Amino acid sequence: SVVIGVLALQGDVREHTRALEACGARTLPVRRAEELEHCDGLVIPGGESTAMWRLMCAFDLLDPLRKRIGAGLPAYGSCAGMIMLADRIVDGAEGQETIGGIDMVVRRNAFGRQVDSSESTVHFDGVPLDAVFIRAPWVESVGAGVEILGRVESGEREGRIVAVRQGRLMATAYHPELTGDPTVHRYFTELVRQSKDEE
Ligand code: GLN
Repeated sequence: SVVIGVLALQGDVREHTRALEACGARTLPVRRAEELEHCDGLVIPGGESTAMWRLMCAFDLLDPLRKRIGAGLPAYGSCAGMIMLADRIVDGAEGQETIGGIDMVVRRNAFGRQVDSSESTVHFDGVPLDAVFIRAPWVESVGAGVEILGRVESGEREGRIVAVRQGRLMATAYHPELTGDPTVHRYFTELVRQSKDEE
């Protein structure tokens, strides 16, 4: 089986761990660069991207993460994790950096305040699921190499991109780890398995 690390600096680590294990993956909480060496893939959880960025700097993880992900480590970011995987962000905090990897511009806090958080049906790679948005970002624009896996389907934000993939990297603006729907974690676990087989 594959080992999928869950970046455990901040955010909903436990929920992702459960969702991955339900898909048959082994998991490893990651707080130090050395631990990345034991991972076949990495999940960057939802939480708060500025806090995550500051902790990455404090734990000397930003460069190791950039290197490992740049060298082909599969990674999936949900919400704050989506922000961390974006090459460029809008409405970040002063000086806020990302790991990057996906050629996209992500707008932080695009879905408004905490109380505006909502649940709605979206499709992920053609599969319908309930999506929980909590002060979520959205994707403003993507480069030619990025596959769009889902958009908001109705209401004020109709058409906004909320799920993407570029090679071995993927991101959702919403939190599948909170709903018990295995679709997104199953997709990522399969991506990790295939990537491992290719090596
Ligand atoms: N608004 C948060 C941020 O900027 C993300 C929210 C979330 O992960 N639920 O990081």
